[in-house]
Amino acid sequence: MNNQATYPVSIEGGETRIVASVVSRGVAVGQAVCLYGRKRQFYRIALNSAQIDPELERLDFAVKAATQQLSSLAQPNIEGLPDIVSDIFDVHLLIIQESSLVHSLKEAIKKDKINAEWAIKTVSENYLARYREIPEGHLKENSVDVEDVTQRILNALHNEESVPKLPDNAIIIASEIRPSTLMEFFNDRPAGLVTEHGGWTSHAFIMAREMGIPAVAGIKNVLRQVRTGELVAVDALNGSLIFHPNNATRESLRSLNTNKSELNSEPTLVSGIVKTIDNREITIAANVDKPDLCRRAVEIGSGGIGLLRTEYLFDLLHGLPDEQTQFELFQEVVKAAAGNPIRIRTFDLGIDQISTNTGEGEKNPALGLRAIRLSLSDEDSFRIQLRSILRASFGADVQIVLPLISDINEILRTKEIIESECEKLTKNSIKFGKPKIGAMVEVPAAVLCIDEILHHVEFVCLGTNDLVQYLVAVDRDNESIADRYQTLHPAVIRSVKIVLDAARAAGIPAVVCGEMAGWPFYTPLLIGLGATDLSMNLHSINDVQKIISGIAYSDTLELVDSIRASETASQTEEKLLVFYREKWPHHFPADLVSANTMKVLKNISKN
Ligand code: PEP
Ligand code: MG
Repeated sequence: MNNQATYPVSIEGGETRIVASVVSRGVAVGQAVCLYGRKRQFYRIALNSAQIDPELERLDFAVKAATQQLSSLAQPNIEGLPDIVSDIFDVHLLIIQESSLVHSLKEAIKKDKINAEWAIKTVSENYLARYREIPEGHLKENSVDVEDVTQRILNALHNEESVPKLPDNAIIIASEIRPSTLMEFFNDRPAGLVTEHGGWTSHAFIMAREMGIPAVAGIKNVLRQVRTGELVAVDALNGSLIFHPNNATRESLRSLNTNKSELNSEPTLVSGIVKTIDNREITIAANVDKPDLCRRAVEIGSGGIGLLRTEYLFDLLHGLPDEQTQFELFQEVVKAAAGNPIRIRTFDLGIDQISTNTGEGEKNPALGLRAIRLSLSDEDSFRIQLRSILRASFGADVQIVLPLISDINEILRTKEIIESECEKLTKNSIKFGKPKIGAMVEVPAAVLCIDEILHHVEFVCLGTNDLVQYLVAVDRDNESIADRYQTLHPAVIRSVKIVLDAARAAGIPAVVCGEMAGWPFYTPLLIGLGATDLSMNLHSINDVQKIISGIAYSDTLELVDSIRASETASQTEEKLLVFYREKWPHHFPADLVSANTMKVLKNISKN
């Protein structure tokens, strides 16, 4: 069933506007670059004659790599493995070696002068169209195998040097954007992003905000509505995508753009501390995913790195990085933190993200083998990561965060592994540090067992993005139910309070590090609930800091009291708006009429 949100379309003055959800604020005008692909995303590149032969070589190389992978999968040497498994890979080998597939790909590159990725897309679409015409039966089912093989070649095409340069002012259009794709574009950043899928707390959009790239989401079949090279505009302040924007629109967007809050690199904080009017100290740290951003966080005086999501530091398309690669990158990030505390989270990955298997993934990845569960299920790889963090911690204030803790045994086993790795490092005279160990609190089980968790860790991080998702059972990446992803749900507010109260009673630091911490609308609420440590993306620091220094802690306690009787998220939101208008009209202007937090945000940044 297709239940995606459909948004109104208007056609006026030669341009078409589609209403969309804002997921990273700002505006941009540029040429559309349509992105395709599942694991590795790509777009059409027109080649000149001199680029054809190197492109054919790239393809040959990828075909060889895919053939090698399939040969070993077809003879796995695993006792007890049913023949059917290796038979499938035998069929895939035949497709790659005996069919006309590779020949057709080469012809497409030569004839149409296109990159290998685009050749794979067009050729496989032709193959699949032919399969669709075959009557039901065994042969028809082979289309799945062809898709698998082409996906494997596509994955094998990837290597660092092959990342093509985006055109200037590129507006990426995609069904869904992968965080790894956005990371590839880090140095060559697009002007805007437009997708069909994803919501405010999707990782790709967390990163878009971190990188300052305007983005809108929720546009059904967006790839069918625009072609690469066409002029489009993203209005990620009011929420629309505009095809063929006319001069007047471009002009007005340009003027809006001057309102965009720039990332300030002047120091605005001292050790990350901001005081409320009545002197309550709140520490602001930064969530970062790149060493460069770590340096920026230090420049603006943040209280260190509150969350480093390690899964975005590496290219994981071909598996997990080795110890030296991890060690060197962690060392670079630790150096960039320049003596400030830095919380390194171990990989928060799903099995689908690291498997080279091209087949169907887990049915429920958010409930599957991910994060600490995946790490503990592959202890050798986990030891490699922990060892590299321990080594990079030497002489630095590094702390280790364990994601998705739902069972105390996960903490206990990790601590045993760390201890045994420390012993080995000592034996081998390798220097290492003694990081504090903390847990992400982001599932209901962790909230309910918070006292037990606090017995075994030195700090906790409240991951509100996942906490909301798991508490109210709403997929954070599913735009069609985005209105049900309610940060102000009474269950969320109560959970935050339970965790903050328990941590205070135990004398253990608790850091709020989900997107809730970086959204100014929630700042008074979090402070009233007892938060004293917030970690957020760099672009949020200015706005949140302004709010903190303009409010009194005593008022935030009154605010929390005022919502105690709320039964729903909308009642709470309404009460917050009333309270804000009365107490802090300068921060939350009085012209707010609807209970719409995006409007609040817009008004804040104009001040
Ligand atoms: C969270 O869940 O709130 C969090 C900080 O982690 P992530 O967004 O990476 O899941
Ligand atoms: Mg999380």
